[in-house]
Amino acid sequence: MNNPAISAPRLLTELTHLAQIGQGPTGGIHRVAGSKADLAARDWLSKTMKVAGLTGHRDEIGNVFGRTPDSEGPRLLLGSHADTVPGAGHLDGAYGVVAAIEVLRTLVEAGHPAADHIEIVAFWDEEGVAADSNGGLGGSTALCDSPHIRDISAYLELHVEQGPRMEAAGLDLSAVTGIVGVERYEVVMKGQENHAGAAPFHLRADAGRAATRAAAALMPLCQEIDREGLIANVGSCSFSPGAANVVPGHASLQVEIRGISDDLLEATRSTMRQQFERIAEEENCSCEIAQVSAKPVASFDPEIVRTVEQTCLKSSDKVTRMASYAGHDASVMSSHVPTGMIFVPSTSGISHNVLEHTPDHQLVLGAQALLDAAVTLAEERARQPRLAVAA
Ligand SMILES: [Zn+2]
Repeated sequence: MNNPAISAPRLLTELTHLAQIGQGPTGGIHRVAGSKADLAARDWLSKTMKVAGLTGHRDEIGNVFGRTPDSEGPRLLLGSHADTVPGAGHLDGAYGVVAAIEVLRTLVEAGHPAADHIEIVAFWDEEGVAADSNGGLGGSTALCDSPHIRDISAYLELHVEQGPRMEAAGLDLSAVTGIVGVERYEVVMKGQENHAGAAPFHLRADAGRAATRAAAALMPLCQEIDREGLIANVGSCSFSPGAANVVPGHASLQVEIRGISDDLLEATRSTMRQQFERIAEEENCSCEIAQVSAKPVASFDPEIVRTVEQTCLKSSDKVTRMASYAGHDASVMSSHVPTGMIFVPSTSGISHNVLEHTPDHQLVLGAQALLDAAVTLAEERARQPRLAVAA
């Protein structure tokens, strides 16, 4: 039996409704977690769930949940976040929330038995930009720390890719395999301040030159290890004392490395250390590398990835598997319950901006793939005892 079809006009209309809450004069959306607009959006979501015949509730932190009145656990959780960065587009987070409502609503209208084994959520503070935020992913973290998580059998999130890879490859849908690990480093080069005219090149200990050579070495270093699975950035560079006529005696770089596996991150860490130390030596400087933070790789459940891929292939033949290079609530969920994600492309790879866009037909394909995958997973999971994920 074919699964029921989601309503494309209703999905797109609801997305437009939600986009109007917190929209500024130039079109950018301002729904930072806890702001008036964010709370208004959560009220609107609760109301929309009620209209769809769902029972809603809001937990202590502000996550909004919905399920059928006859719902019984364990449930597959579908959702994303309702907050935004300042000046956001209309899809990041909102798309996954509105699509989750549309999926459950369609199943309820069709009298589909899977409806009673699905719950939907609009998470609180994924973005982490509010003044009192604890760095984001607050709603999913609170859910995983609460007794409610014991009712959740698995989690599935639909999201825009937020990068250019899918569009460039002509793809419609992706089964997401996991979320990259992110490591940040402070790299300090120490040399000797000196007169920029009187000190000849070959007798300098130029910390600025050592740091910029290290910054330039980062890209080829990553590409040599793995062209696809690694990406890195030097986001900030400072020289001291910072004057045109003084050879810098001290320079620092802020480096971020993202990788799809722990092995790749490990290899990058040790190669970076070797190469940066060699560069420092060649420049008569010393090099110190300190890890500032490390978020581990989140690997999604292989069975869910397979189910998502197979159901995506029912909607389109332009389907791939890929890792997410941006963070999501799914990374928190994946350390507590089996988790998966579906991506649709982002036009020109733009996100966190008013230009964020995905063609309507791909938004509709994504929501239908979410329904198809949810039906399979909810029915499978309802028959199984809840499987804990090893921490
Ligand atoms: Zn997001």
